[in-house]
Amino acid sequence: MGLVQAYGPDDEPIYDPRHLCHAPQERVFIDGQWREGLSARDLLDPEGTGGVAVLAEFEAQVRAYQNYRDAQGRRAFALPVAESTTAAEILALDDMSMRDYFDRAGWSSERLRWYVDYCCRDDYGCTLETTSAWAGWHYFCSRPINGEYLTWPEGNGRIVRHLMDRVGDHVRAGMLVYRLRSTSGDDNGSSAGVEADVLDTQTDTPVRYRARRAIYALPRFTAGHVIEGYPPSDPGANAFTYCPWMVANLTVDRLPDGAAWDNVLYDSPSLGYVVATHQNLRVTPGPSVLTYYRPLSIPNPEVARAWMLEQRWDDWVSMIFADLAQAHPEIESLVRHIDVMLWGHAMIRPVPGFVWGEARRRAVDPHGAIRFAHSDMSGISLFEEAQYHGVRAAEAVMDDLGHAHQSSL
Ligand SMILES: Cc1cc2nc3c(=O)[nH]c(=O)nc-3n(C[C@H](O)[C@H](O)[C@H](O)COP(=O)(O)OP(=O)(O)OC[C@H]3O[C@@H](n4cnc5c(N)ncnc54)[C@H](O)[C@@H]3O)c2cc1C
Repeated sequence: MGLVQAYGPDDEPIYDPRHLCHAPQERVFIDGQWREGLSARDLLDPEGTGGVAVLAEFEAQVRAYQNYRDAQGRRAFALPVAESTTAAEILALDDMSMRDYFDRAGWSSERLRWYVDYCCRDDYGCTLETTSAWAGWHYFCSRPINGEYLTWPEGNGRIVRHLMDRVGDHVRAGMLVYRLRSTSGDDNGSSAGVEADVLDTQTDTPVRYRARRAIYALPRFTAGHVIEGYPPSDPGANAFTYCPWMVANLTVDRLPDGAAWDNVLYDSPSLGYVVATHQNLRVTPGPSVLTYYRPLSIPNPEVARAWMLEQRWDDWVSMIFADLAQAHPEIESLVRHIDVMLWGHAMIRPVPGFVWGEARRRAVDPHGAIRFAHSDMSGISLFEEAQYHGVRAAEAVMDDLGHAHQSSL
């Protein structure tokens, strides 16, 4: 994709600066004003009441987990998750919530708790109470220190275009799989494989594909509906739970003053908004799109999903304006158009016991000729995990079929 310009002395990639998130990157609206930055340290109130000592302990724990290596040299929290240590003292963190961890550590700083809760909602759609401490620490400790963001105006669309340029001839889009069946070979010489029944949504006709292998890269909750005979009496099937999200795109005549890439509101049910045009190298002010995110993390996915479906477009618009008006009293006058998207099963929830539990670990087990991919297989919803499981499943299929290849993992 032309992202890496060179490699540094430690073989670290040096990225083309056009793809790295430009400054100003992040700001938070707190105490009635915007503050640049979005780290726990940026949130401390200027008088520094007691929270400073707690923050120092929190940061020391982050460093300790970042520096941790087990006997095999594995990190405590790695990206992908599969490369993390399986040492008992680290996996034990998965049995408690991040809130339990804070309570046990005696970390009562309201702002630090808010910050970590915000991070859990941002990456997992879960709260401090519903995120496992393992997943909570993974957020802070798995990424490189001083890592940078790659981002594009069209988001993942850039990656999709890159892939389609190379393999587009082999891709059939608009095909809805409604039944997948693992077949065994028969006496007439047909070999074992899969049969996929698919609705071609362009022609509204059903199509049947036969293949020697299939990779099921759909969200996990669909598997029991699509794959015949799956899960084979799996008691953990309900362990996969998902947070619903509302995402809105606000088309504005001009950006609010001082907008950064990510603009967060302290103590809001939303995560604030990201400026979609932030990476455009435009110098004159003009129209833009603000993408506003609201994970529906409470009280639980079922109730939140039902509530979400009861809201009408104008209910969402009123909620969005009321939220943003704290920081931007003029917001209504800037907005020309609002698109609201509801995602019923937006993100897998790494609740206590899930990431290192039996159901998640066994989810990658093949079912006949079907292999499984998708970021759900990691228990956390991250691009790197989706990429890892796609490559892992593809390599497993090549192994099955005897295709020689060099592993990319
Ligand atoms: C609001 C939001 C913000 C996010 N932000 C980030 C971020 O900043 N960074 C990050 O790393 N991750 C982020 N994520 C997570 C990231 O989007 C996922 O981890 C990633 O998309 C998973 O990729 P995937 O290919 O495994 O699965 P998916 O993206 O879920 O792809 C599954 C595909 O299967 C298709 N499908 C479903 N059912 C059928 C069917 N019956 N027949 C045919 N096709 C079907 C779907 O249309 C979809 O295209 C975010 C997620 C959400 C919801």
